[in-house]
Amino acid sequence: MLRTFSVFILCAIFVVPLDAAATLDAAVPVLRFTDGGLTRAQFSQTMNMFEAVFAPYAARDNRTFEILSDWNEAWPQAFARRWETDHLIVYGGIARIPGSTVDSFALTLCHEVGHLYGGEPFGDEHNRMAVEGQADYWATSECWEKIIHELPLREGSVSDRGVAAAIVLSAFFAANRNLPAPRVETPDTSVAERTNLTHPLPQCRLDTYVAGLEMNERPRCWWAP
Ligand SMILES: [Zn+2]
Repeated sequence: MLRTFSVFILCAIFVVPLDAAATLDAAVPVLRFTDGGLTRAQFSQTMNMFEAVFAPYAARDNRTFEILSDWNEAWPQAFARRWETDHLIVYGGIARIPGSTVDSFALTLCHEVGHLYGGEPFGDEHNRMAVEGQADYWATSECWEKIIHELPLREGSVSDRGVAAAIVLSAFFAANRNLPAPRVETPDTSVAERTNLTHPLPQCRLDTYVAGLEMNERPRCWWAP
């Protein structure tokens, strides 16, 4: 069941550095978003749907999956952690990043669920948490198909909607780093010598989302097989 946990926020903020590999983006944004984006109902409905869809993933290991959220917190952040329960922590600001839609919010949640259930490569062998690039790839290669039909109807194919959502998120990641917004037409052609265990650059992340939607292999800009 979805719970709002105001008191929890205080400790969650201190937990983030320990769980840095599981945050949406390592660069903590200075911006805070109080307006725009999703309605509170859309925010809650989307998370309720995710809890229902992914509860069976946790149940396979006799675990539970729960999303803790605070709509009023303007910090644009979400992260995953595996404690006694498989948790996503989601702040309202993430639903209010510029250009936010229910689809882009859902893609954020897919990324976070990807840390929990997206498989290897793991950033944390003990917790079996997927690295950032893998969480991005799983978000579009596995999660997107499972949740898209549960979202409000919108124009566009499953893939087009995924690309549109990925453009919103990667533009936000780029803004956090003072980089130009990534574009589908300008993929990152760099080749990682070793698998990147942290957040790939925003263009590389967009490429990864697109690769997952098109069922192509993971981009070499972060992945070293
Ligand atoms: Zn992440």
